[in-house]
Amino acid sequence: MDRARLHALLARESAEAERRNPRSRAAYARADHLFGRVPMTWMNKTAGGFPRYLAEARGARVTDVDGHTYVDFCLGDTGAMAGHSPAPVAEAVHRRYAELGGATAMLPTEDAEWVGAELTRRFGLARWSFSLTATDANRWAIRLARAVTGRPKILVNSYCYHGSVDESLIVTTPDGPGAPRPGNVGAPCDVTLTSRVAEFNDLAGLERELAHGDVAAVLMEPALTNIGIVLPEPGYLTGVRELTRQYGTLLVNDETHTFSAGPGGCTGAWDLAPDLLTIGKAIGGGIPAGAYGLSAELAERLLARGDLDLVDMGGVGGTLAGNALSVAATRATLEHVLTGEAFARMGTLAERFETGVRDGLAAHGLPWSVSRLGARTEYRFTSPAPRTGTESAAASDPELEDFLHLYLANRGILLTPFHNMALMCPDTTEQDVDTHTEVFAAALAELAG
Ligand code: PMP
Repeated sequence: MDRARLHALLARESAEAERRNPRSRAAYARADHLFGRVPMTWMNKTAGGFPRYLAEARGARVTDVDGHTYVDFCLGDTGAMAGHSPAPVAEAVHRRYAELGGATAMLPTEDAEWVGAELTRRFGLARWSFSLTATDANRWAIRLARAVTGRPKILVNSYCYHGSVDESLIVTTPDGPGAPRPGNVGAPCDVTLTSRVAEFNDLAGLERELAHGDVAAVLMEPALTNIGIVLPEPGYLTGVRELTRQYGTLLVNDETHTFSAGPGGCTGAWDLAPDLLTIGKAIGGGIPAGAYGLSAELAERLLARGDLDLVDMGGVGGTLAGNALSVAATRATLEHVLTGEAFARMGTLAERFETGVRDGLAAHGLPWSVSRLGARTEYRFTSPAPRTGTESAAASDPELEDFLHLYLANRGILLTPFHNMALMCPDTTEQDVDTHTEVFAAALAELAG
């Protein structure tokens, strides 16, 4: 990689973004009352120095306030995997909120049992409870795992992401119990007191940590998706299940992103058998919704525990969790939008996307790798594809990533910030994918000179 050339290209694309997006830039400059000038500080993760402001979004398209329409492969980093405002969800939300009324009344609706039964059909777990975010689903799964096992620690994979769950912000060190993930804000205590860590795809490392006998649960994605995509090697997930059973540790699959693998996520696609499963983002079709599932056996053990306050102050649940609006949106999303047929189409489109990226890389002899998990693809600046989170983290190249994101955005294509990730939704078309293939190849040609 010619760094001077990359640097010059990035400067050129930044100038072009400023020229194309005067209204977004001005809105950002005016936002004096927002912490970091944005509604949420992560919105500052924008190649080019300012975020594009949203005007409208429908299906696989986003339009910014400067009047540019984009093919959206970001899809709200999975929150809009059903496409933006799909009609069945829009109708269900309108009906619940405007026609029937009662978005949040502290009363259950009949939709909830429909959703629970559908989640059981897809993921296998027998009992379900709701949250508004995947982070909260994880937090509550962790509390329940600690309560039922009486053990203090949670084990995660190095460079995982499970939301702002304190226990998950730990990375491996060459020797020893791991260390806080660099940049973590406001840890309540030394993370090694609450957590253990192992590399993804490393069963020996996992067993070494579980053997301490103090791990309540392993919280993991069946494939890492937040440090590029790191796929499990043959036998790894079977080994994780065997070891967790052997050491009396519960297994929690976080399917928030790996849902892209199919209608039942990796758990359904690969016939996995976790004790708990967490999910959020996509299931509400853009309306805040999350859920966690428990095996029947685990649910019974928890409900039988008279000492646990699961009803009032026990720390499991939020006032708006399971509200009528979120549950109606989730039902509409699962019943009509993110169906088995939709996943099949999205997977085929992602394969086409992956082929386009591979062809571009081959044409320029670039030693990068591309991985796919159903409807989601991601490339990393290294080859072969990383086997662990730590290997994948070592391959990051923020300047190169910024250039590619900006080059694409200036030509009407959005990728997910924090990733070189593209996600397909039911409204994505072959033409959308081919447009990306063309623009990506042009970006590589510029890099090559
Ligand atoms: N789990 C996984 C696997 C995720 O990727 C994320 C977010 N990227 C979360 C949990 C947290 O989701 P949320 O921010 O919606 O709580």
